[in-house]
Amino acid sequence: MSNLTLTQLVKTYGQTEVLHSIDLEIEDGEFVVLVGPSGCGKSTTLRLIAGLEEATSGTIEIGGKVVNNLEPKERNIAMVFQNYAIYPHMSVRKNIGFGLRSSKMAKADKEKRIDEIAEILGMTDLLSRKPNQLSGGQRQRVAIGRAIVRDPQVFLFDEPLSNLDAALRVQTRLEIAKLHRRMDATMIYVTHDQVEAMTLADRIVVLNAGNVEQFGSPLELYHRPQNLFVATFIGSPTMNIVAGTLAGASNGDAEVKVANGSVLHAKVDASNMSGGTDVKVGMRPEHLSLCAVDDGETFRGSIDVIEELGESFLAHVDVGEGERIIVRGDGTARVKEGETVGIRFRPEDGHVFSASGAALPRTSPDAFPESGAPTLN
Ligand code: ADP
Repeated sequence: MSNLTLTQLVKTYGQTEVLHSIDLEIEDGEFVVLVGPSGCGKSTTLRLIAGLEEATSGTIEIGGKVVNNLEPKERNIAMVFQNYAIYPHMSVRKNIGFGLRSSKMAKADKEKRIDEIAEILGMTDLLSRKPNQLSGGQRQRVAIGRAIVRDPQVFLFDEPLSNLDAALRVQTRLEIAKLHRRMDATMIYVTHDQVEAMTLADRIVVLNAGNVEQFGSPLELYHRPQNLFVATFIGSPTMNIVAGTLAGASNGDAEVKVANGSVLHAKVDASNMSGGTDVKVGMRPEHLSLCAVDDGETFRGSIDVIEELGESFLAHVDVGEGERIIVRGDGTARVKEGETVGIRFRPEDGHVFSASGAALPRTSPDAFPESGAPTLN
C-alpha cells in the first residue's frame, strides 16, 4: 500500500484547462473522497491517476515514484467504476479470478487468494453462482473483488454506488468502509453524494471548477469551512447565507448588521476588517431554533413553509428584505405556516465570509472539537 502525491497537476482538453494545478498529498492507507458538482474534474483526476488520461503538466507519484510515464497496468492500481462489467457466463470464483489472469502466481495460490477475497467480501457461499443468481449489490461486490484480488497499491472508485437503489447504496457503503478497515489500503473515491463523502472519508477533497477548495476531515469541512463554496456544499439543507455589513469587531466577536436591520454577533476574528465592509453570515439550519417573538431572538419573520421529516422538521421563514432562513427543529413542528416567530442564533455557531468568499477564522473554542473523540460521560 502506498501514499499518493499530485504536484501542480494540470489537464487541458484542446484549449480548455479543466484541472488547474492540483496539489494533493494522500497518505498511505488513507480513504480520500473527491466531491464536487458535476463537471468539476473529479473523474478526470481519477483517470489521470489511473493512467487512462495523460497529464498536461505536473507529476503523479505513487509510493514516492513518479508514474506519469507508466502504463495503467504498470501502476499497480485497481479501479472500480459505476458501470461494473462482470462476465455473465463465469461463476463468481472465475469472475474474481479474472483479475489474476496475467499474474504469475501458482494456481493453488490463486485459488487461496480468491478464497481470501471472497471471505473479506462475505461471498464465500456464493463462489459457484453465476451473476444472474446474484443481487445488484452482490454483483457490485464481485466487481470489487476482481479489482482487489491483485492486491493493488491504490484503489480508485468512480461513483461505484450510483447505479444501486437507496437501500443497497447504504449497505454497500458500509461494506466499502469495512473493506477499507480490513485491507488498510489507500483508497480514492469519487462521488457527488455528500453523505457518502462524510461517512466514508478520512479526508475529503472539495473540488470546484478544476480547483481544490478545501482538503480536510469531514468534521473540519463541516465546522470550519474555509470559504463560502465549501460552507454551502457540505450540509443538507444547505447553510443559510445572509448578506450584511460589519458594524464592529472586538475580542474575537464580530457584530454584523444584516439587510433586514437585525444585528447579530458571531464568534469570528474580524479585527483585520474595517467597519462597513460587506460580509456574509452563514448559519446552519440545525444550529438555529424557533422561539416566541420578543424572547431573545436574532431574527423575526413569518413561516412560509413547514416540511415535516418525522424525526425533525424544516421551517422556511421569511425574515424580510427577500431573505429566507431555514430552521431545523426536533420532532414535529408546533408552529403553523403563516405564524410570526423568532429565530434564535448563538454567536458561537456563526460563520462569516468576506466579499471574496473567504471564511474569517472562528474563535469559539467549541466551534470544532479538535482534541480527540468525544467521551461517553
Ligand atoms: P466530474 O467527474 O467532476 O463530473 P469530469 O472530470 O468528468 O467532471 O470533467 C471535467 C471537465 O472536463 C468537464 O467540463 C468536462 O466537460 C470536461 N471533459 C472531460 N472529459 C473530456 C474530454 N475527453 N474532452 C473534452 N472535455 C472533457
